[in-house]
Amino acid sequence: MLMRRFFPGLVPPDPRPERALWFVFRGRELLVRENSALDPLGQPEELGLAMLRWQYLGRLGGQHCFSAEVAAGHAAPPGMEFRDLRALFGRLDETLHALAGRAVQIVEWDRTHQFCGACGEATQPRSTERSRVCPRCGLACFPRLAPAVIVAVERGDEILLARSPHFPAGFYSVPAGFVEPGESLEETVAREIYEETGIDVKDVQYFSSQPWPFPHSLMLGFTARYAGGEIRIDPSEIEDAAFFRYDSMPKFFRGRISISGWLIEQFLQKHGRG
Ligand SMILES: [Zn+2]
Repeated sequence: MLMRRFFPGLVPPDPRPERALWFVFRGRELLVRENSALDPLGQPEELGLAMLRWQYLGRLGGQHCFSAEVAAGHAAPPGMEFRDLRALFGRLDETLHALAGRAVQIVEWDRTHQFCGACGEATQPRSTERSRVCPRCGLACFPRLAPAVIVAVERGDEILLARSPHFPAGFYSVPAGFVEPGESLEETVAREIYEETGIDVKDVQYFSSQPWPFPHSLMLGFTARYAGGEIRIDPSEIEDAAFFRYDSMPKFFRGRISISGWLIEQFLQKHGRG
């Protein structure tokens, strides 16, 4: 599939184009065709969609893109269905899935920032940046983004993995945690690994990043090396942690779906097990 470049925008063409890519959400479910495809639609109102709010997103190649929200329980038009965004991983075109992740965050932010958090006045959208501003007290609200680090800690030919009680039986992942106000990313890496597993790390290196719209994270992947300490888990966060050799790995989440899988796969590739 041809990579199409996305150009974010704030001001929609007036009038709205006859056909456009519409990312219509019912909660966190996206409106797609029954075969999970998403292609340009005519005006949503003509399809019987009662939109609560809609937003202009920008252009993908030559297509204008919009996001919108309908009420809980709203029926899908004939031949279409609402599907959970996670269930569409690998089914929906990758560029469109990424854009849907962007869209659902804008929809959610717009819904939850209709009124000023300081004085309660109705907010207004700005046309110069993605924000809503209070006309009475001037408070501006921007889309929320929660940065989180996710870290592959290596000790020789072993990698540090942990499992959360929410994981399917037997599955492990590399540890992760949210950045706190005032922290550098390197400090977050050291604190999270120490808090969750009791391990000290060194040589923290940036690896890659991934937007994760569940609900509004930006995952920042790092690699690090073991510097000392014995495993001592924080039972409020995880139920087990251990160093695993490349040839005796537990089950983990593979593939393109998450950066945790990429981090583990780069470790295995280094040892000829990719
Ligand atoms: Zn205000």
